[in-house]
Amino acid sequence: MPEVPAVLANVMEPWFARSANVTAVEDLAPRLKRVRFEGSALRGVRFHAGQEVEFRVSETAFRHYTPSAFDGTQGALEVLFFLHGHGPGSTWASGLREGTRANVLGPGGRFTLDPFAATHVLLGDETSLGLFSAMGRSLPPGSRAVGAVEVEPGCERWPALAGSLLDGAPRRAGKRGEALRRWVEEHPAWLDKRRAHNGDTVFYLAGHAGTLVELRRWLVEERGIPRRAVRSKAYWADGKRGL
Ligand SMILES: Cc1cc2nc3c(=O)[nH]c(=O)nc-3n(C[C@H](O)[C@H](O)[C@H](O)COP(=O)(O)OP(=O)(O)OC[C@H]3O[C@@H](n4cnc5c(N)ncnc54)[C@H](O)[C@@H]3O)c2cc1C
Repeated sequence: MPEVPAVLANVMEPWFARSANVTAVEDLAPRLKRVRFEGSALRGVRFHAGQEVEFRVSETAFRHYTPSAFDGTQGALEVLFFLHGHGPGSTWASGLREGTRANVLGPGGRFTLDPFAATHVLLGDETSLGLFSAMGRSLPPGSRAVGAVEVEPGCERWPALAGSLLDGAPRRAGKRGEALRRWVEEHPAWLDKRRAHNGDTVFYLAGHAGTLVELRRWLVEERGIPRRAVRSKAYWADGKRGL
């Protein structure tokens, strides 16, 4: 529900949301911000890495974000916000300070790690840094995460700043996703069809919708990876408000 009339949002929010306060803010880079939310209403909440939450970011708008960390005992969660600067969610996140009140809806969603895969290949953009941090911390025993996040030139340290285990940060050049695809091509072990067919390797694509469609097509049609080994979650789309 990205946009709803204010009167409806006012009625729904108290019923479905959990109240929290911002307790820490870190400006990791000029357009990358980590925010910690805490609230007793978050205590005891179960969370699986990859699940999303929703915040009311204006009178009429709700936006999805992914906890990079969630602590149901403390009643705390952290989100890595990419401040792209084009919408109410980005404006709201830019303005978060210690003490800001926020209402959290969720968590929900089923974009979680395959418990049986040995290698998880994580591919995305700036909006998936939090997702991949959470997944990296929750790997099923005996499995490993590899992959990359495509970033603007000059932002190659973002995965490390975000605490991600991934060291791949190919620079965006030309069409979105091209640098990411080339990065994958440079790691032929990830593209081993046999391992993907027997469930050992699973791909997780997140971020810009058009890039996911193109990467998925390339993996399946050109590299022979089975569809079931490619999971994707669109986080934003050109010209579209909220997903
Ligand atoms: C399940 C889920 C989890 C998500 N988790 C995170 C997260 O943890 N961290 C995070 O930063 N984002 C995350 N996102 C993405 C975030 O919700 C979107 O970027 C959202 O569009 C932001 O809302 P907005 O109000 O700023 O922009 P909108 O009003 O939705 O969009 C306004 C304009 O901005 C453009 N736009 C939106 N996102 C981007 C972008 N990243 N880069 C360039 N242009 C953009 C749109 O195409 C549109 O033209 C997640 C999305 C989903 C669906």
